[in-house]
Amino acid sequence: MHEMSVAQNIIDIVSQHLPEENSHSVQSVAIKIGKMAGIVPDSLEFGFQVLAAETPGMEKAVLQMEFTSLVIHCGQCKKDFEIDDPFFICPECTNANVKILSGTELQVTEIEIDDSPKENL
Ligand SMILES: [Zn+2]
Repeated sequence: MHEMSVAQNIIDIVSQHLPEENSHSVQSVAIKIGKMAGIVPDSLEFGFQVLAAETPGMEKAVLQMEFTSLVIHCGQCKKDFEIDDPFFICPECTNANVKILSGTELQVTEIEIDDSPKENL
């Protein structure tokens, strides 16, 4: 299950950012997922909850997912387009010479720890 390893990845990243003392508990973890990252949100949330439950300091962590659109750049008319469907053809000139600018990323953007201020990554 692909989402399980992604969830583990997120937990690892969060763990690295936790303060040394074990008295902190993570409230929420915000991530950005590209629509093209191939992630099933429900599966990722499930995987995250399973792994967080057995990770000290993360038992109560909630995963907040934000989806980013797919953005392509046309090599022909040199414009950027935000598209909803993965048709890698320029919507304007129907050229197939397009490059994916964003939409495949997965990024931890924010970790909220109990009473301490939010840490922006
Ligand atoms: Zn074009």
